[in-house]
Amino acid sequence: MTLPEMEEFLSHLGREKYRARQIFKWMYRKGTVHFEEMTDLARSFREEISSLARIGTVEIADSTTSRDGTRKFLYTLEDGLTVESVLLRERNHWTLCVSTQAGCRMGCRFCLTGTFGLKRNLRPGEITGQVTALRLGIPEGPDIRNLVLMGMGEPLDNYDNVLRAIRILTDDCGHGFSNRRITVSTCGLAPAIPDLSRDSAVNLAVSLNAPDDETRNRLMPINRKYPLAALLAACRDYEMPLRRRITFEYILIKGVNDSVAQAQELARLLRGVRCKINLIPFNEFPESEFRRPTDEEIEAFRNVLVERNFTAIVRAGKGLDILAACGQLSGRRRPE
Ligand code: SF4
Repeated sequence: MTLPEMEEFLSHLGREKYRARQIFKWMYRKGTVHFEEMTDLARSFREEISSLARIGTVEIADSTTSRDGTRKFLYTLEDGLTVESVLLRERNHWTLCVSTQAGCRMGCRFCLTGTFGLKRNLRPGEITGQVTALRLGIPEGPDIRNLVLMGMGEPLDNYDNVLRAIRILTDDCGHGFSNRRITVSTCGLAPAIPDLSRDSAVNLAVSLNAPDDETRNRLMPINRKYPLAALLAACRDYEMPLRRRITFEYILIKGVNDSVAQAQELARLLRGVRCKINLIPFNEFPESEFRRPTDEEIEAFRNVLVERNFTAIVRAGKGLDILAACGQLSGRRRPE
């Protein structure tokens, strides 16, 4: 429940609204998962609410640490499904990349998650639960400063639950994240982008990966439904404070989308969009059909963009050795 939803729930029980804030603080500041432990609530109230509601949790089932310090966590959901999140070390804090669906039905050809199909949408508490489990569930929980909804799943394909999760994550009585510290990534569900712009103030990232429809159709089936013209039109209308920009993610795949001519086309496509471009050399995984370009090819691609005054950054693949990098999440347990 978001805070207003919990207030409404409590008012139906004839309780004061401010009790919702007390419960939120127990849940999201202290990590309490039992109403009985909320000692500033009357015992009778704790008993009543325990009989009507419960606090769902996600359990950390496994974690692995990469040579570069990136940590990958596997969570078990209450029905036994598993999802992953990735904790990325920045200079003096952490960024957490969380999942929004168990699996994904978007079928991007460069992505391991996409090969498993969609099992189900995550509920709001299962999205926020990945954050709570790390912040409050382990001793000396990490100082998570930024959240990216970029793990398993397409966030805008689970729109209502993602929005409710954002409301909980940004609530002062919840996790208290600032909207500018949260980024929602989409593979291109163009009609939902104006909704996100209207309903929230979070950052938008778009997984673009090609400068033309023909190449993008090959890589990302969603492009057949919402081609680049529709996607870019939605991006141009995305409302942001002046200093913010849309992030375009571009996975560089050898011989597919990494030529200088394609970089020039990309620059033409993005002309006039307030944006930065993250170039991600393809992260190979065991079943992948694609390869990573050479460092020279990556640099040549980037130079075309930089010469045309774009901010283009090559993102070092973090967590490659533990299959925690972009497109490598499987939600599978490690072999025993
Ligand atoms: S890249 Fe994202 S949207 Fe595409 S299949 Fe993978 S998880 Fe789904």
